[in-house]
Amino acid sequence: MARKTFIAGNWKMNLNHLEAIALVQKIAFALPEKYYAKVDVTVLPPFTDIRSIQTLVDGDKLLMSYGAQDLSPHDSGAYTGDVSGPMLAKLGCAYVTVGHSERREYHHEDDEVVNKKVRAAIKHGIRPILCVGEQLDVRESGGHVEHCTQQLIAGLKGLKTEQVKEQVVIAYEPVWAIGTGRVATPADAEEVCKALRGALADKYGAEVADEVRVLYGGSVKSANISELVACDNIDGALVGGASLQADEFTKLCALAA
Ligand code: PEP
Repeated sequence: MARKTFIAGNWKMNLNHLEAIALVQKIAFALPEKYYAKVDVTVLPPFTDIRSIQTLVDGDKLLMSYGAQDLSPHDSGAYTGDVSGPMLAKLGCAYVTVGHSERREYHHEDDEVVNKKVRAAIKHGIRPILCVGEQLDVRESGGHVEHCTQQLIAGLKGLKTEQVKEQVVIAYEPVWAIGTGRVATPADAEEVCKALRGALADKYGAEVADEVRVLYGGSVKSANISELVACDNIDGALVGGASLQADEFTKLCALAA
């Protein structure tokens, strides 16, 4: 089955809700509806922007979707500062990133926590974008494929085959390429994305592996998106810095379509 290209913009901790509204309006204006037949576009703003974006997307019937950058593994309770799956679902979030390397590094999230968050997302009907990726020293020692496939399998632990097939998105994000301007070569990115698909096939079967979208992330921009999505196993991109500029992001989405 042909997998539809997917571009997700991870805004990280940028843009207040007024700036968020302006950016979504610019993207909506610059990316004609015809493109959405070929590419799914989602934006992942900070929590404080989600309500404003929901109002805009619903009110203007925009074709882009939106989501969040994190969620709590818990549904509710005494977890000061956290935001839960039910809260995000109520706001219409379609996706949530889980296991981003910045969460793994700055918030010490290990595979067990990542797995709990993946399950929490699925429980509430939000599609997790499970991020995996190796540090530079792991790549240099040749352990990158094993490292990433291990993170993948650990992140999906306990999920039913149907849940993986229908709800999960994978993002391969080499840590050394995130926000550094140093993009992986298409061959390097394809090597890992292909191995991740292979690991999905081994664990869940060929049909599932054929269905799940595997994205690449790490210094993606309009200048390199075409060669990345031309690879057999790269179905789109998780875009950080370049997703904050309307012109650049819409150009990138149009080129990916
Ligand atoms: C990211 O935040 O997931 C990312 C890939 O960032 P950048 O595109 O800026 O490297």
